Amino acid sequence: MLIVVSLLLLTMALSAVMLLVLSSLRKSGARGIREWSAANALAVVSLPLFAARGVAPDFLSIEVANTLLLGTTVLMLAGFRRHLDLDLPCHRLAACVGLGLAAILALHHGVDSVGGRVVAMSLLHGALLAEMGVVVWRQLARTGRRYPALFTVCAAFLNAAVQLVRALVYGAQAAGVQLPWEDATVSMVFFSAGALSLPALTLGAVMMANAELIARARHAADHDHLTGARSRRAFFDLATREQARALRREARLSLLLFDVDHFKRINDTHGHAAGDRVLVDIVERTCAVVRSIDTVARLGGEEFAVLLPDTGADTALLVAERLRHALEHVLELPSGLPVGYTVSIGVATLGAGESIDAMLSRADAALYAAKASGRNAAVDARELPAKMA
Ligand code: GH3
Ligand code: MG
Ligand code: MG
Repeated sequence: MLIVVSLLLLTMALSAVMLLVLSSLRKSGARGIREWSAANALAVVSLPLFAARGVAPDFLSIEVANTLLLGTTVLMLAGFRRHLDLDLPCHRLAACVGLGLAAILALHHGVDSVGGRVVAMSLLHGALLAEMGVVVWRQLARTGRRYPALFTVCAAFLNAAVQLVRALVYGAQAAGVQLPWEDATVSMVFFSAGALSLPALTLGAVMMANAELIARARHAADHDHLTGARSRRAFFDLATREQARALRREARLSLLLFDVDHFKRINDTHGHAAGDRVLVDIVERTCAVVRSIDTVARLGGEEFAVLLPDTGADTALLVAERLRHALEHVLELPSGLPVGYTVSIGVATLGAGESIDAMLSRADAALYAAKASGRNAAVDARELPAKMA
């Protein structure tokens, strides 16, 4: 009995620690934190009630304790559903808690059966844990963030299996089957496994929340906030990698550098918000014209780049012409007013042993030449006099 009480109090302490860990994530914006925190708070309240069995009134240590503990599992499931952007089946979850309370009342004040209560609670906890495992398992395939989800799935299914076995063992005992182990050993094994369940699931939840926050921060650093194109930093990272790959495999690599013509006029005539819409439209239309393996990046202001792996100079010029044509466009503003725009493009292809910076400055010179030629044009760096390129 002393060991059981110690285990209950240890789990309570672990839940309190988890509550502190979760509260450090409260302002992070990660979804599910509120539900997971509430689950651990309920555990902190319900576990001492179990430990107070025989000291506190039965109603508290049986009905209230079991119902609150069922609430923790329900809230953990709700947290995972919220975290994964799934709907919250509030009625079903509330009904599950109601069913648990009804079963406990019936198996306490109707037929007073400890075994029956254990079976009923184990089945309900087991079903909820299995649903947790399924829900997180389904998202495993969707994201590249595998370890935290895998950890959670294993914790959920393992605990669901423990609850199922517990229901079977206590069910068999209630039916009069004599087990080859002593009762005390059986209940200690289940108790120890159960004690780790909530902390393990909360650990999985915290890992999943952290992984999501890191992915969000990485996405924000790698993408332009306005247009969704790759950021300047991500572009240079990718371009350096592609350059190394092109050198290694003797592959070709081309770059289109383009800039909106007289963009200042668009801002001055239609306002900054209209200018922003034009930038968004440009990225959408550019992505529609290039391949999925090409990188579209906003290098700054109204200047963009498209990196074309495995593309030689002649093809790059064809792509540049196609892009220039696609971006010779009249966009209708929400006000109904039309705003026309064009772009000038500089094209460069990586030379033998050339660096990304050198290729970029040749593309820049070609872009400058396109502007000088009257704009709405694509110029190949090969066309420039040697000293200009
Ligand atoms: P050119 O044809 O020579 O490129 O002329 P331009 O007017 O496009 O070039 P300029 O460099 O004179 O003007 C660029 C303008 O782009 C000025 C700046 O206010 C505007 N701009 C830069 N970033 C943004 C942005 O995020 N949104 C909007 N709306 N305007 C921006
Ligand atoms: Mg411009
Ligand atoms: Mg510019």
